[in-house]
Amino acid sequence: MADYRKMWESLGLNLEAHDQLMDILPPTYGTVFLNQENRPEAMEYFDFVFSEVHGQRIQELLDHKAADGKVIGAFCVYVPEEIIRAAGGICIGLCSGADIGTAQAEKVLPRNICPLIKSFMGFKLGKVCPYFESCDMVVGETTCDGKKKAFEILNDYVPVHVLETPHMKREKDKALWRSEVRDFLTEVEGYTGNKITLDSLRQAIKESNDKRRALLRLNELRRYDPAPISSKDCLLIEQIAMYDDVSRFTAQVNALCDELEKRVQESRGVTEPGAPRLILSGTPMALPNWKVPHVIETSGAVIVAEEMCTGLRYFENLVPEEGENIEQLVEAIADRYLDINCACFTPNEGRMKKLVTLAEELKADGVINCTLAFCDPYLVEANRVEKVLKGHHIPLLNLETDYGQEDSGQIKTRVEAFLEMLDK
Ligand code: SF4
Ligand code: SF4
Repeated sequence: MADYRKMWESLGLNLEAHDQLMDILPPTYGTVFLNQENRPEAMEYFDFVFSEVHGQRIQELLDHKAADGKVIGAFCVYVPEEIIRAAGGICIGLCSGADIGTAQAEKVLPRNICPLIKSFMGFKLGKVCPYFESCDMVVGETTCDGKKKAFEILNDYVPVHVLETPHMKREKDKALWRSEVRDFLTEVEGYTGNKITLDSLRQAIKESNDKRRALLRLNELRRYDPAPISSKDCLLIEQIAMYDDVSRFTAQVNALCDELEKRVQESRGVTEPGAPRLILSGTPMALPNWKVPHVIETSGAVIVAEEMCTGLRYFENLVPEEGENIEQLVEAIADRYLDINCACFTPNEGRMKKLVTLAEELKADGVINCTLAFCDPYLVEANRVEKVLKGHHIPLLNLETDYGQEDSGQIKTRVEAFLEMLDK
């Protein structure tokens, strides 16, 4: 790897803490990803992107900034990336999937708050994330209470624009959300100094849709038995989707799909045919959180879809591309995002329907619903998930976990017992 220390220093990173993070990541990555057998060759690109996670991509962001471009960070799949792109900005999904800077985070947050919120505060206060330090602005949202209040604190360290996401999906909520997205467009134009035009918005919608189409194509290929690719690799790709260059990423996912189509024709998979097929649902698994999929797939099952924000919720709906003016396109963008089934909405029937449809269409043997500790929306919604899946005779395992590794053994025992119960 090139020597990026000067670049990290120029970003004001705490190099000692950053070194500790970079010491942990490669061996973990090796164990989780590189030890897999029969991996598609096209995963080489994603391995490279990850190996350069704090290197080449950061350099690209800094080059963009040097040419007067803006980098805007987001923590939620509700942030309309099309608008940022249409104004010439780069939208980066900030990860927050590791226990870093916990001591600093706990100085400003309660101890019993969800690990994702604690992680993003820890990354910022601990100065370990070059993406965070490259951001000119962060976009927050009012999805859950913990995040909403944490953004007030984060605003002391980086400018934060908060989108008011409604918690219901009635017509008046839709009207509120559309007006929020319109205001966001004005804010982004002011921040970047670039006027969004009909052509730039159309182009940005098309590029974001192309990325979603590639991810949908990848997801579609997972319905075959044996599955041609592991969930761990798909999750990695879904995590990388949030920060990689959009056009390059799209091309690489499509190249991977070309390879997977051949594997399907040859019945080559990552497991033996007939391995238990599961759907993974729940809270997002932000980079580098791979614990549960690793446990599941090393226990002999294969995950065939992630009903999560690092998964289907990120790419399942496209924005209609045919609007005739900016207003129509902005409404189309707003409506597409409001269709995301986050547990912050009440009721959240869309998620229940999706889980049942997915289980039926993908011939899944069961669902694992995995929730981050202290995440009230998803922990409470586990009750609805259980009731609905029971009504459709779909086996379910509920898990609650955090970013520590201490419970890996216990999770493995529960997953193995679940797989045994499926009697495959
Ligand atoms: S779970 Fe909800 S709050 Fe979290 S990223 Fe998804 S949509 Fe946003
Ligand atoms: S995981 Fe739950 S508590 Fe944490 S930020 Fe997302 S919705 Fe909020």
